[in-house]
This record gives sequence, C-alpha cells and structure tokens, in this order.
Amino acid sequence: MKGLSQIASGVRASTTLAIDAMFKQMKADGIDVIGFGAGEPDFDTPDAIKEAGIRAIQEDFTRYTPTAGIPELRQAACTRLREDCGLEYVPAQIVAASGAKHAVYAALRALIDPGDEVIIPAPFWVSYFEMVKMVGGVPVIVTAEESAGFKLVPDQLEAAITPRTKVVLLNNPSNPTGMIYSGEELRGLTDVCVRHDLYIIADEIYYRLVYDGRTFTSVASLGEDVKERTILINGVSKSYAMTGWRVGYAAAPEHIAKVMSNYLSHSTGAPCSIAQKAAAAALSGPQDTVETMRKAFEARRDHLVERLNRVPGVSCIKPEGAFYVMMNIGQLIGKEIHGTVIHDGDDFADAFLKHGLVAVVPGSGFGAPDFVRWSYATSMANIDAGMDRLEAFLK
Ligand code: PMP
Ligand code: GLU
Repeated sequence: MKGLSQIASGVRASTTLAIDAMFKQMKADGIDVIGFGAGEPDFDTPDAIKEAGIRAIQEDFTRYTPTAGIPELRQAACTRLREDCGLEYVPAQIVAASGAKHAVYAALRALIDPGDEVIIPAPFWVSYFEMVKMVGGVPVIVTAEESAGFKLVPDQLEAAITPRTKVVLLNNPSNPTGMIYSGEELRGLTDVCVRHDLYIIADEIYYRLVYDGRTFTSVASLGEDVKERTILINGVSKSYAMTGWRVGYAAAPEHIAKVMSNYLSHSTGAPCSIAQKAAAAALSGPQDTVETMRKAFEARRDHLVERLNRVPGVSCIKPEGAFYVMMNIGQLIGKEIHGTVIHDGDDFADAFLKHGLVAVVPGSGFGAPDFVRWSYATSMANIDAGMDRLEAFLK
C-alpha cells in the first residue's frame, strides 16, 4: 500500500489536548487527579450568551450562513476591536472561523507557499509549529529566554530573517508564558517587520485577560504601516468561556480577508450558525462577565505564583496576562524523583501525573524543554491542592 501524506504523517498530536484527554480519562476512571493542563476557563458560558444560542435554535437559525460569518457577528467584532483596542475595521475585513485555531490556520494558508519561513518566538503555543508545517512552511524558532521575560527583542528577530522569511507569528499576551509586550516593545519588533516586508500574524486571543492594571496594545494599532501587513486573530473562547462553541475570527486587510474566506469556503465553510449568534451576543452584549472572570484569574495567578515560588527546586516568573504559568524545573534536571531521572519537562510531567496525580503540560511542545506549564483556569481549591501535591511530590 502507498504511504500516507508525508506532511500529515509528520504532524504531532497537540500536547495540550493530549494531556487534557489523559486527565479526563483518569478522572472518568475514578482517579483523584487534578488538572492544570488545557487552557480552558472553568467558568460556564454566561447565561445571556447561552440564551442567544438557544434562541437561534428555536428561531430555526440552523442553515448555512455566509462563509465569513453573519453580518451581525462581523459587525460585533468591529465594534469590540474599536472599543477595546482603538482599531478601525469594517465587516468586510472580518473573517469568522471555527475557532481562533482555524483562523490562525487559514491565515497561514493565505500567506504561505511551500518553503516559506515563519518566525515563531519560543516558548510558543504548540499548534503554531505544527500548523506552519501543515501548510508546507518552515518554522524558524527564536528563543526568548526566561531572563528576558520570555520576550523577543528586535535584534533577535532581525538575526533570524532570511530571504525566505514571510511571516512573524506574535502571540500577545502569550500562551504559554503569560507575558505581555508593551506598545514600545512591539513597535521595536514591527519596525523590523516593516523594514523587511514581512507579514505579521498577531494572535491576541488573550487580550482581555491582563493583570496589575496593565493596558493592552494591539499590534494593529501601532500605525497603518503595521496594520496593512497584519492579520489579527481573536475569538470568544477565552474571554467568554466559550471553548466548545468554536468561534474565532481574523481581522485583516480586505484582500487578505477575501483569500482566507475563499479558502474556508472549501474547507469548513462558515462556523456553526447557532454558535455565531451566541458569539455575536457575547461580543455586543454587556461585558461585565469578562471583568468578573478576569478578576478571578488575577487572584488565582497571585496565589499560584506565590505558593509555587515557595517550593524548593522550582520557580516561575510572574506572568502578566492569559492564564498560564511556566514553571522552571532546571534545578531538577538530572535528579531522581520517585524512581524517574528527570531529563526534561516530559519526564517531570509524566512522573508528576503518575506519582503526584497532577496534570501539567510539558514544555517540550512549547519549545521550552526545561519548563512545564500550569494553567490556572481552575478553582482556588484546586490550586491549593495542586501546590500541596507539588510540595509532597518534591519532598
Ligand atoms: N491561540 C492561542 C494562543 C490559544 O491558546 C488558543 C487556545 N486553544 C487558541 C488560539 C485557539 O482558541 P479557539 O480555537 O478555542 O478559539
Ligand atoms: N489553547 C489551549 C491550551 O493551550 C487549549 C488547548 C488547545 O487547543 O491547544 O491549552
């Protein structure tokens, strides 16, 4: 028999989703495991949003919609981007997709030909690396060290550029580090992109989840020279606790939005009609639930970071947004814990799940092998129990 597609066969399963599946299976088997794996709010979708979905079903809004999304969703996205980020987009520049994940994929599809290079700062969200390969592109990883706050600096970016470089993928606030680039830091990076005529895919899905009174600066707000080469990625999963509804969107120059929409028209088609109505309600309705959840995440971050940094052998820097903490396990490398010699985050995460009954995501999938990621999108009680188990595990 002939082999399968080489590109598809080379794709590794998502570590974040794999850990989540393992955790859910252990729970279903009656094992007392605590999950800090998948980045998924533990809150329920707010009632007003659920009701918009229910109404859509009752009103038989259950047919195909325009590929790029229903007008009210595209308009609601424009309004949110204007009110929250000071950005001017018109609905023709908005493309809805079945999750921000697919919006990133469609953006890469729109920009990348085989062999084109995409610069990805590490630590990076697992899916970027695989998606670039899936479209035939070449991921070029540039490591942003913990000592630099996990942030890339312009010289590093400049040094990674070759004649094949086409796109820089920026994720701000970042999954998995939770770090946030200021407007000034971003401008340093985008100056390089403008000078070298590079596109920017800016995944800003965590922009509502910023802490310590910080304000968020969208890449596209830095000037027309940046906006004209930027595809913004956003969505409702994280801010409105809507991970299962599968709605995300991109905002881009109209000619790019058109190409993305054409591509989507032959792959997924439009996102679910019911979910689109719910997402439109989320983006255009009262925003108080976003703030309620944001505050809860901030308190959890404070508590997790404070406790984690009291545990000997591990450490973390304090993230400024999203809901992730990268725990540095460098000091444990080469040590034996519960019969396992720890070579990297994979060994640690494995042993911690088996012997500590806590699920965290190894950093290898994020391009950060000496780290593991904790998602604190879980209750304070779970955070305390998780930290107790970490202390016991390392004792
Ligand atoms: N971008 C980043 C950085 C993420 O962490 C996620 C979470 N899965 C996504 C995009 C995708 O979100 P969704 O597909 O649920 O909209
Ligand atoms: N983005 C989340 C995470 O990193 C959800 C899982 C996924 O889609 O990768 O955990």
